[in-house]
Amino acid sequence: MASAADVVIVGGGVFGVAGALELARRGAKVTLLEPGPLPHPDAASTDITKLIRLDYANDDHYTAAMEAALPLWRRWNAEVFEVPLFHETGVLVLSSTPLGPGSFEGDSFSALSARGHPLERLDAAAIPRRFPRWAAGRYVEGYYNPQGGFAESGRVVAALAAEARRAGVDLREGVRARPFEGDAAVSEVVLESGERVAAGTVVVAAGAFTPVLIPELADRLAVVGQPVFHFDPGDLAPFASPAFVPWAADIGRSGWYGFASHAGVVKVANHGVGTPLHPSGPRQVGDDAEPMFRAFLRESLPSLADARRVATRLCLYCDSFDGDFFIDRHPSRPGLVVAAGGSGHAFKFAPLLGGWLADAALDVASRDNARFRFRERGHAAREAARHAPVPAQS
Ligand SMILES: Cc1cc2nc3c(=O)[nH]c(=O)nc-3n(C[C@H](O)[C@H](O)[C@H](O)COP(=O)(O)OP(=O)(O)OC[C@H]3O[C@@H](n4cnc5c(N)ncnc54)[C@H](O)[C@@H]3O)c2cc1C
Repeated sequence: MASAADVVIVGGGVFGVAGALELARRGAKVTLLEPGPLPHPDAASTDITKLIRLDYANDDHYTAAMEAALPLWRRWNAEVFEVPLFHETGVLVLSSTPLGPGSFEGDSFSALSARGHPLERLDAAAIPRRFPRWAAGRYVEGYYNPQGGFAESGRVVAALAAEARRAGVDLREGVRARPFEGDAAVSEVVLESGERVAAGTVVVAAGAFTPVLIPELADRLAVVGQPVFHFDPGDLAPFASPAFVPWAADIGRSGWYGFASHAGVVKVANHGVGTPLHPSGPRQVGDDAEPMFRAFLRESLPSLADARRVATRLCLYCDSFDGDFFIDRHPSRPGLVVAAGGSGHAFKFAPLLGGWLADAALDVASRDNARFRFRERGHAAREAARHAPVPAQS
């Protein structure tokens, strides 16, 4: 019988594959278990694009993390990806009120300016002049951040998985782990087939399924569905970068964000409350979504308002109660590590996720991510750009 892996990772989304690659590079013997093909079509990480932004209002923790991640994205383009999968188009941040303190847009502008990042401030007249798709007068101020843009997320996961396989990771597709019931130490993964996979350490990186696999986390990790629309305006050229770049429009107050044309479509999404659901449930976008999207487009991007709807997707957030990730060892279950809680904003940290996960799996003492530690439910909060009321204190 094959000797036990040092680390078995449950879940092949961006947390899992980035972690597997980093652990293998650190010399660990790693097995990754994934029910679907890699990348799994229903995984949160699997999409045509994800926003890569530096903009985190005055949250120094995530801003500093993105300052570290951006150069690594650029290096991945050069060293890991066969073709660039991170596109540094810059990001447009729009506000329907002046850029003042207390708003996501205002705080991001002042925090990034104070950190020395060059931003192009735009007033109401400059916005449609510089980015002609935007309705004149709808937004009173904003800024263009030349750093950041978007990543082809599904292809990034595929590329990292291939790199992990080359680094010696045993990637097992088509296998599903059973839940880790109870409170005992963990030294194996039991698959739905009944097979037992021995492990020195088990990392549960199962995204929205994490509170199912570790039921005690259900009071700290909630699952919500978020609608994503792909539109085809017929002529894509006006929606191509640099005239049209990834954007956030009043995102802290409305949730709206979207992308330049890519893969033949223009993607629009909403970083809002989301619809609570069970991860195994049907993934149907609600009937109320399309009118909501088109109403937003009519007032903000009129030339997209009647575009043909090509596809929709209900993608799942694994929402932590405070918007921060969980990447840590279980305090009372030796051998168990949790890496989840992306809360709708983790993909952009992909170049750092592997290191954070590997540090936890290898119990590296110096890991300094207090925000990601295993924690009881406490003060509820939301990530800076999230348009959602803070969950009620239970
Ligand atoms: C609509 C939407 C838009 C987003 N936009 C952005 C964005 O623009 N920028 C950004 O930074 N972030 C964004 N995010 C957040 C980001 O995508 C997630 O935080 C991140 O992808 C989560 O990765 P993950 O590996 O935790 O989960 P997932 O990618 O969901 O991966 C979990 C994996 O675990 C597997 N799994 C499940 N159950 C089991 C089991 N029993 N056994 C084994 N494996 C199992 C699944 O098949 C899946 O492959 C968005 C998320 C959504 C939903």
